[in-house]
Amino acid sequence: MMTRLVLGGLAVLAWAQVGWAQEGAWTPLFDGQSLKGWKAAENPASFQVKDGAIVAVGPRAHLFYVGDGQASFKNFELQAEVMAKPGANSGLFFHTAFQDKDWPEQGFEVQVNNSQPRQGNYLEMKKTGSLYGVRDQYKAVVRDNEWFQLRVTVRGNHVLIWVNDQQLVDYVEPAEAVPPTHGKHRRLSSGTFALQAHDPASEARFKNLRVKRLPDDARDNVTPPVVDDAYRQILALQDANFPMVNSHVHLKGGLTLEEALATSRATGIGYGIAVNCGLKFAVTNDAGIEAYLASMKNQPAYVAMQAEGREWVHMFSKEAIAKFDYVFTDSMTISDDEGHRMRLWIKDEVVVGDKQKFMDTLVRRAVGILNTEPIDIYVNPTYLPEVIASEYDTLWTEARMRQVIDAAVKNGVAIEINSRFRLPSEKFIKMAKAAGAKFSFGTNNAENQIGDINYCLQMAKACGLTWEDMFVPKPDGQKPVQVKR
Ligand SMILES: [Zn+2]
Repeated sequence: MMTRLVLGGLAVLAWAQVGWAQEGAWTPLFDGQSLKGWKAAENPASFQVKDGAIVAVGPRAHLFYVGDGQASFKNFELQAEVMAKPGANSGLFFHTAFQDKDWPEQGFEVQVNNSQPRQGNYLEMKKTGSLYGVRDQYKAVVRDNEWFQLRVTVRGNHVLIWVNDQQLVDYVEPAEAVPPTHGKHRRLSSGTFALQAHDPASEARFKNLRVKRLPDDARDNVTPPVVDDAYRQILALQDANFPMVNSHVHLKGGLTLEEALATSRATGIGYGIAVNCGLKFAVTNDAGIEAYLASMKNQPAYVAMQAEGREWVHMFSKEAIAKFDYVFTDSMTISDDEGHRMRLWIKDEVVVGDKQKFMDTLVRRAVGILNTEPIDIYVNPTYLPEVIASEYDTLWTEARMRQVIDAAVKNGVAIEINSRFRLPSEKFIKMAKAAGAKFSFGTNNAENQIGDINYCLQMAKACGLTWEDMFVPKPDGQKPVQVKR
């Protein structure tokens, strides 16, 4: 014992003294030089210490914090500096327990992954800062090769996660257990921390890991969510890698960005926040796009362009359009063959005349939009003006649906399942899925209430949608405006 102290020197002695956690004090978990206090499983060589950081890279392995042998944390605040290399998948577990192989069964994972590409037939949707499979972040908020601050707090039934200064997760565990679908024990309890080496192509680095114990009876004044069918379904879909995103949200009716993000954090549904761009809309030129993008910079939400009318194609530069995560439009503003422009949601502008002829024109316009406009998603699909809305099932014949679906698939345009208008019909979605179409969810709120996605959930179930049926924003260089002629 004496020999070790002498050989170890002062630095180790000092670290050993604070290494035993005292309530309220910060305890370093990593001494910056060695893996003392940690125990690696499965492939220990996947963890090395380099340049003051723990480097995780290599065949699957998990590095568990064991401390002095009694490392167990219930309520705590954890901080770490983390960096992911391009394409890396990694993570940091809490409330977990040592296991000698496989993915940890116990506890929760805070995901590290900014850019992992498709691996065989699997594309990991959950990005850095996700409380894996429970509260997921789909848009990467940090870049590869850059150190970022990860902060995780657990107090009672409440988990909060920040990446740099951006809060991403605000999870309140329900009072009753929601049965997990993958056999993981996803209940808050207590346990230790672990770092993940995911695969040989994934490299992540961790440093300045430290924890502050909080009292075992610490609790926040938060109300657990009501566990209803929608809650269970959302959790099950997330568990199955389904991107739980409402891609069509507007900051309307006084709804602020912060209010929208708070709702997103609490419900676990990610948002794409769209601005209306076109003739007589909020944004009419590139400068307007730049101002909007600046207001959304570094926010944990997709930034979307709702392209309006048919004139939008000529109003903005390709470069400005490509700065959005994605672009969508609908066919709710069209002109008939006589050049009469109508907005289908405004009664006084709509002239239907012969219903069959009107439908044929509407389908032709929709197909024209899908063929020519550089969009990612076709929203409010199959919308009919009020005067004929009740005849939806007869007017949307199979032949008409087929034309729209074929054009969407051919052009790689996803189709929105819209819960505000409850469109398109189940029959349409089933046909589109069979044809290989992709889908997005949207509420298209007109007021400050974002609205529920219950119709989307209902359709996901009825039509058997999986993550592979869902739209994923295209990377820079592959956006429709950059590749479509
Ligand atoms: Zn909209």
